[in-house]
Amino acid sequence: MTALLRAEDLWKSFGERDVLRGVSVDLAAHEVVAVIGASGSGKSTLLRCLSLLEPIDDGRITLGDEDISDPRVDANRVRARFGVVFQSYNLFPHMSVLDNVTLASRVVHREARKDAETRALALLERVGLGEKARDHPDRLSGGQQQRAAIVRAIATDPEILLLDEITSALDPELVGEVLELVRELAQDGTTILMATHEMAFARDVAHRVVFLDEGRILEQGPPAEVFGNPREARTQEFLTRFR
Ligand code: ADP
Ligand code: MG
Repeated sequence: MTALLRAEDLWKSFGERDVLRGVSVDLAAHEVVAVIGASGSGKSTLLRCLSLLEPIDDGRITLGDEDISDPRVDANRVRARFGVVFQSYNLFPHMSVLDNVTLASRVVHREARKDAETRALALLERVGLGEKARDHPDRLSGGQQQRAAIVRAIATDPEILLLDEITSALDPELVGEVLELVRELAQDGTTILMATHEMAFARDVAHRVVFLDEGRILEQGPPAEVFGNPREARTQEFLTRFR
């Protein structure tokens, strides 16, 4: 397996607290990897460090054949190679959905508005949000907002999609429509690294599951193994909370 993204021995602390303690993880092109673990185990920090939203203290991150942890890299250029969706507050409230979706294409990638809008509208149509393109985000349900946020993240055709518990803030009845979109993207071959508490979804869609425990990867493997036959007592203990 050649890795598209490779993290080697990442260390990150906030003050006295070591949040990532030697994390090494690979992501191949078209692979879907789910990061699971208790709240506070370092999932968000890992995703933020990988996409250079947060500086690491030690270790190395390689994207394609570029060492993106080299302090000399242009972090903004590297960040544009990732599409990122967070738990909430993804869309700018003062802009239409369409302007949200086209913003990066127009500003970062300097694409003409007309071209960016044509592509954005096609994507919004595809996820059933064509009618909402001219609305402001507060006119959309939480599930629609997260689907729009995913569309915004993929609009620039990023190499990797990072999803950080994107359904955790949603009312339960809105979770399904968002996961369905992620499933479609996975089926289309999108490379996805997602932190999630949706175990059934991870089991179904992810090619590999990584269990993060207090800033270390305690075990990883195919979902059937990690969920069906976890090796580590801590993984077993964690998973019983979702039964
Ligand atoms: P998870 O996403 O698995 O819940 P996080 O990566 O958000 O875990 O957090 C891991 C630990 O790092 C937590 O103890 C959290 O309080 C701490 N942490 C995260 N971000 C910051 C920050 N910007 N400043 C200080 N502490 C932080
Ligand atoms: Mg988190």
